Amino acid sequence: MATGQIETEETDQTTGVVVRQLVEWFDRNARDLPWRRTRDPYAVWVSEIMLQQTQVQTVIPYWTRWMERLPGVHELAAAPAEVVLRLWEGLGYYSRARNLQQAARRIVGDLGGVFPRDVAGLRALPGIGPYTAGAIASIAFDLPEPLLDGNVMRVLTRWSALGGDPRSSPVNRDLWALAGRLVRIAHRSDGLGAARCSRLNQALMELGAMVCTPGPTPDCAACPVSNACLARLRGETGRFPELAPRVASTPRFYATGIVEHAGRLLLRLREETGVNRGFWEFPSWETAADEAPGPLLSHHLGVDPRAWVTLPDLRHTITRYRITQRVLLARVAGPPAGVGNGPAGTWLWARPDELEALPLTSAHRKLAGRLPADGRHGKADPCDGSDRADLKAGNCHAGSAGPLSASK
Ligand code: SF4
Repeated sequence: MATGQIETEETDQTTGVVVRQLVEWFDRNARDLPWRRTRDPYAVWVSEIMLQQTQVQTVIPYWTRWMERLPGVHELAAAPAEVVLRLWEGLGYYSRARNLQQAARRIVGDLGGVFPRDVAGLRALPGIGPYTAGAIASIAFDLPEPLLDGNVMRVLTRWSALGGDPRSSPVNRDLWALAGRLVRIAHRSDGLGAARCSRLNQALMELGAMVCTPGPTPDCAACPVSNACLARLRGETGRFPELAPRVASTPRFYATGIVEHAGRLLLRLREETGVNRGFWEFPSWETAADEAPGPLLSHHLGVDPRAWVTLPDLRHTITRYRITQRVLLARVAGPPAGVGNGPAGTWLWARPDELEALPLTSAHRKLAGRLPADGRHGKADPCDGSDRADLKAGNCHAGSAGPLSASK
């Protein structure tokens, strides 16, 4: 092992003092978060997946809504995929929501509805990696299993003055070993009371979130382990963790067409494979940086190029991509003749008040919210109720009142 706390001859007894300080600090300072009021592995699992790359304050309403609607693995396994995606909408990384449901179906179908109680069993489920498995095993089942997220990484690299990129294999291995050592010491420390592995791991996460924060000046004065922290003792808190620079973001450009006909808006289902599948969107196509959106949208959607009105661009970031959506709006007298050209997809004419119930990616949800008022409140179309439209044929799908053209 590399350095500091890891390679010294320091005894478990000395480290045991640090473990005790962390656990006692957590008991006094832990935030009252809704998922901390339960040891239900399902609740812990959902919270941990939601918290990946998302702030606690953002997650609270999502978690609360999810638990009200889908309180256990059986409800999640049985839920329509659209409901799951709608509950997740806005958190991004939608494969996580799909993996949650796949894992729930496996727990219900193959494991009798019983959550695996060990890391190997947890890791066999879709979407559960070493961090999430360690979190569920330690927080819900109080097993002496380590976890390592960005917050814990920061605390441990500083406390042990461990150099090198903590995401690189050798340093990462050392950090997992150190986290494992700490939680095993907690496990053996009867004097720490109940749920001590759970409290120790949460203490490390909480310390990283609230005290040992990113940037050169963590709040060492409020830190329970400052007397033993090598980075602080050496005056090098700003040096750790030695993260490698991030890859520069890449710009991408999309043309998005919002087409309104008789008070309804044209949506397309994302293809079955690829990012955001299962979500509805205003039809969009990727373009070159200098490509005008109008001709492309007219080609795919069959809209007269003169009908387009330009709306403000929408800019957002997804992972390492800086996305600019150039947005055009057209109100058309009849269903565009050319719809259906380009990539296959299921199409839907939706009333504005129906958008709320549909899963939309956050960018497209924002676009819906930006539409001019008169572009969102047209007259109802007789093609009512179940209104998935086969636009090539000009017909509503099951349960409809008749061809779309009848509403002109
Ligand atoms: S003493 Fe400072 S740098 Fe060290 S773990 Fe505590 S907050 Fe982090």
